[in-house]
Amino acid sequence: MTTSSRQAGLRYALALALLPALLACGLLIAPLQVDHWSYHLQFVIALATTVWCARLVSRSSYPRVLILALAISLGLWTLGAATLLVQIDLLHSLVDMTNYTYLLFVGYGVPLLYVAVAFGDPYSSRWQKVLDASLLVQLGLLYWVSIVDVLDAHGSLSPTSLWYVRHALDAVNAFLALAHVARWLTASSPATRRFFRITSVYLVSYLVCIGVHNHADMESVGVNFMSVLGDVLPPLPFIALALMLHRWRNAPAAEPASGSGLLQRVALGVSPILFLLAIFAVGLSIDDRRTGLVLLIVGLAMLAYILRTVLVQYRYVQTQDRLQAMTQALERLSYTDAVTDLPNRRAFDHAFVREWAASARAPDGMSLLMIDIDKFKDYNDLYGHQAGDHCLRAVARLIAGTLHRPADFCGRYGGEEFVILLPGTPLAGAEIVARRILERVHTANLPYTTGIAGRVTVSIGVSARRATDMQAETLMERADRNLYRAKGRGRNQWDASEAEL
Ligand code: GH3
Ligand code: MG
Ligand code: MG
Repeated sequence: MTTSSRQAGLRYALALALLPALLACGLLIAPLQVDHWSYHLQFVIALATTVWCARLVSRSSYPRVLILALAISLGLWTLGAATLLVQIDLLHSLVDMTNYTYLLFVGYGVPLLYVAVAFGDPYSSRWQKVLDASLLVQLGLLYWVSIVDVLDAHGSLSPTSLWYVRHALDAVNAFLALAHVARWLTASSPATRRFFRITSVYLVSYLVCIGVHNHADMESVGVNFMSVLGDVLPPLPFIALALMLHRWRNAPAAEPASGSGLLQRVALGVSPILFLLAIFAVGLSIDDRRTGLVLLIVGLAMLAYILRTVLVQYRYVQTQDRLQAMTQALERLSYTDAVTDLPNRRAFDHAFVREWAASARAPDGMSLLMIDIDKFKDYNDLYGHQAGDHCLRAVARLIAGTLHRPADFCGRYGGEEFVILLPGTPLAGAEIVARRILERVHTANLPYTTGIAGRVTVSIGVSARRATDMQAETLMERADRNLYRAKGRGRNQWDASEAEL
């Protein structure tokens, strides 16, 4: 452990210890006021954490959506705590605004749940995100309605209501903690993992501390160890959260989400239907008195889910079409030579294997021509490489233009060499094509002052397959050997001396 990290750890521990110490002092001075003051302290600390978190939104160390959602959640919680204070200090009654308090405390879970289940899908559209958010808002609303329903039925402060409300809030907190821990363990990018690690620690400690607070309150009368613990613990998760966020405020910029792991994909795919089911389940648990409202929310949720499904399906088909077009374009590119636009060496290798197999049964076999531009190195030296490329393109067009049969193949073999495959063509036919190529290149009269005959010329080696037991390599070797024979004899000519040996 380095000195600086030990110091940071010490500061951390000190800050965490300060609060229980403060409350312990309060307990000594005014034991019956601790409960009251702990609410104020919770509010102040939650407010400070909210402000601190909101300030981090403009920094880039966390993915923006995540930190914004956390700030909104904390803001809703702080507002909830504020309504409690208004009831305690101004209204002197804990029932007048309870519904709003619970709305805010349930609302606190919505953004946190949203980021845990919907954030990180690199392929979801803006509308899909809006619909996911609306499903969660509807779930939150219905959950709140179910709480209000119990409060109305049994009276705000009755043991039954309190039991239900506390367990309902426990359930939300446990679910949030679980969702965030799951995201922490499956996050694919370091910045996202860091964020969910922080919120996991916060939410698990929140579940425990607020749980102790709520249940200690319910089960104890007067001042005892559990009730003091219940008052001391609630601010701790907020302090821990603020310190953890502070620690990472200068971390490297968050990288955009890319791809997603298997678990994450499954979770993203399953969550919308889970929310719809949760909405149905909560809706069913609500009393008949609110049937209209419940039906409205359930109906809206179903509409959102249907729209979402249509959207996902539409985008799936669109993406498939685009992918198919891109694959075809890429395939075309990977078989085409960039300079001459002719099929490239890879395309030739495929065509050769195919035609070689087919020619075994063809009575006229097949022929092959290797064509090489004469003194092309000197051409480049004389006119430059750009002019060399122009010349290559011009020769490619001329050569390709000499072929008339659809099955004939013309490609760039490499450098300034071209290759022609003539399926079902005997040696005599290949010689005609070779002669035609020489003629075409000659009449094109591409300028090359120091070239053979004062213009660009080519040499051609011809070979043909007649015997069915001939090796594929032999056909290539013979064309190559004949090409060098044509070069040796003075260039600007074709040679077929070893074509059918
Ligand atoms: P020969 O008549 O014996 O065929 O002589 P050559 O100079 O054509 O033969 P060599 O194989 O020695 O040189 C081939 C030259 O072709 C090398 C390089 O300068 C040129 N070359 C190969 N590929 C390209 C290309 O894509 N663009 C350009 N501009 N030049 C190329
Ligand atoms: Mg060459
Ligand atoms: Mg050459």
